[in-house]
Amino acid sequence: MERVDEDIHKVSELLCNCCGRSIKRDNDIMKEDVFTGVKEWGYFSNRDMEVHKFNICEKCYEEIIGSFKVPVHVFNKTEVL
Ligand SMILES: [Zn+2]
Repeated sequence: MERVDEDIHKVSELLCNCCGRSIKRDNDIMKEDVFTGVKEWGYFSNRDMEVHKFNICEKCYEEIIGSFKVPVHVFNKTEVL
């Protein structure tokens, strides 16, 4: 029984998919922000019907967007509302 509980805990642990680091949490409240990517691949892809989801920590996110040839579009939340 203990073993099962341990496995469930591991599944609920939030890891950065890029570096594998555990995202800091305190009683299930995230202490750092992460990028969550969700993609439902469609008919014109080789992954039709697949849904992909991943989390990337801020450090890895900065490295990834830093490698972009075209920078990400950055705007403030107030401009969206
Ligand atoms: Zn990371």
